[in-house]
Amino acid sequence: MSTRIKLGLAILLAAIAAVLAWRTLGKTQADSHVDAPGGTHWTCTQPTCGTDFTLTIAELSDFYNKNPESEPPCPRCGKPGARATACPHCGKTIPKLARSDRQAQTATCPKCGKPIQSAASGSGR
Ligand SMILES: [Zn+2]
Ligand SMILES: [Zn+2]
Repeated sequence: MSTRIKLGLAILLAAIAAVLAWRTLGKTQADSHVDAPGGTHWTCTQPTCGTDFTLTIAELSDFYNKNPESEPPCPRCGKPGARATACPHCGKTIPKLARSDRQAQTATCPKCGKPIQSAASGSGR
């Protein structure tokens, strides 16, 4: 009888230890893992300003927590920014690709003029 209780206690302790270890590991992994290593790219919606800026995932989520209805403002003029992307050729911040596949396939980078193929282009041909 007593050995059974001891065994049960040992299993319980092992389970708790495993859960604690898993939680600690999972937390450190979540902290270091970022979807966008270079941050998120933004461009100013004011054409005469046209400032490009980047925000880290942490900065962006912090902003959305405080301002769920608006977009991050331009650091220079304060106008709301528009989500942008980085050109795969020159690495500069460019407006996000159009949603339509046809437009995305013919889109060119305004900075270097090279065609931007959408990463998910598996169709055609
Ligand atoms: Zn601006
Ligand atoms: Zn480019």
